[in-house]
Amino acid sequence: MQNNPVIGRVIKNKYMYRLISILLSIVLFGCSHAPETGRSQFIAISQSQELQLGNDAYAEVLQEESIVTSGPQFEMVQRVGEKVATAANRLYPDVVAGYQWKFSLIRDNDMVNAWALPGGKCAVYTGLLPVTENEDALAIVMAHEVAHVIARHGAERSSHAMLSAVVAGIAMSEMDETDRLLVLAAYGVGVALPFSRTQETEADQLGLYISADAGYDPREAIPLWERMGKAGSKAPAEFLSTHPTSETRIKQIQGWMPKAMMYYDNSVAHEAAQSPSN
Ligand SMILES: [Zn+2]
Repeated sequence: MQNNPVIGRVIKNKYMYRLISILLSIVLFGCSHAPETGRSQFIAISQSQELQLGNDAYAEVLQEESIVTSGPQFEMVQRVGEKVATAANRLYPDVVAGYQWKFSLIRDNDMVNAWALPGGKCAVYTGLLPVTENEDALAIVMAHEVAHVIARHGAERSSHAMLSAVVAGIAMSEMDETDRLLVLAAYGVGVALPFSRTQETEADQLGLYISADAGYDPREAIPLWERMGKAGSKAPAEFLSTHPTSETRIKQIQGWMPKAMMYYDNSVAHEAAQSPSN
């Protein structure tokens, strides 16, 4: 092929076009800050691209799974999801604009896990519920997932991977598919590419505030993560491998607790004021 100058030029142009569009998107979207922590982030994927990729991936993943669509466990996940999403919208209105939240329950009793895709599509496995034990703890896990979405952790991981790809000069004609896989991988779906420890800590912090604002007791976080630790090898990477040790984690949670309790107290007072007196 390299002997043919026309094809060579087309390939070169295509390569250059992709390279320029990636570099342009880096300039346009590259500088951003994580909500709450204010940490600088490098993100080269637009929110509308994220939404599209997330929706596609969600449909693809759910097709392979057995989905629970009725019953008390399903209703609990819907109830918690709705409250957590409402709280996220209330606390971080600028960040969540355009996200379309959806919470599915996947039937798999061996899977102690939950995940979220770019744009707000989340899933919980039935195997998580015996470990969370109560609705407050489930809300803390689901809000942790919502926090990954809000802080755009998947896009951040993908952007780093894309930049490495640009630097390494991999085949740009295959980049579309690669982008998609990177986003999936970055969200822990399919290929295992866990979030970084910094991102996990950030999701713990934001998630604690969101669930507290949704009216769930943040003090449940400590026994929850202890139970999660005991679930041991049954709990996959998302909740264990990149997380700080439980001792560090509990110290961090205690540090965030006063602010979380403030959200919780306000939320409970707000709810009491709204509920009918009869
Ligand atoms: Zn996480």
